[in-house]
Amino acid sequence: MASFINHSAISDITLATTPPDDLIASLAAGVGGAGYKTAQCAVLYARGYHCGVIPVDAGMVTKLAPLFGINLTPGPVAHEQMRRLLQHGVTARAVAYRDLASHLRYEITIPAGAAPTRFAHLVLIYFKRLYLNRPRPELCPHRPACPVLVGCGCQP
Ligand SMILES: [Zn+2]
Repeated sequence: MASFINHSAISDITLATTPPDDLIASLAAGVGGAGYKTAQCAVLYARGYHCGVIPVDAGMVTKLAPLFGINLTPGPVAHEQMRRLLQHGVTARAVAYRDLASHLRYEITIPAGAAPTRFAHLVLIYFKRLYLNRPRPELCPHRPACPVLVGCGCQP
């Protein structure tokens, strides 16, 4: 990524100091085959998990956004719209989300001064996986009430 940026036609881009929004836009536009999600992940990994970026995958656009009542523009730009909405919401309520992570005893360290975007991202991803993704056929249809999620006797 540093090599791409250093050889980019956009001369005012630097990995360490360019705002994440600008980095993501540059990567999505300038790297062949990379869309917004790839660019978001690249910036997250380059800057660190607590840099404030919440990468948005297809399931977050197609399943999570409708559940939240969020209308996104169809197409790739939906990933950027959703990312900005989530980041804005988490940043605006940073204290409340920090308190929630602590109250629920999540074992995550949120650096002082960092928005709890990593915490929010992980919660949203696992919520989506547990409740919105199509369940594997061996998964109990009575979850979460059934204490045995896989291979129980509840299957018809
Ligand atoms: Zn069961």
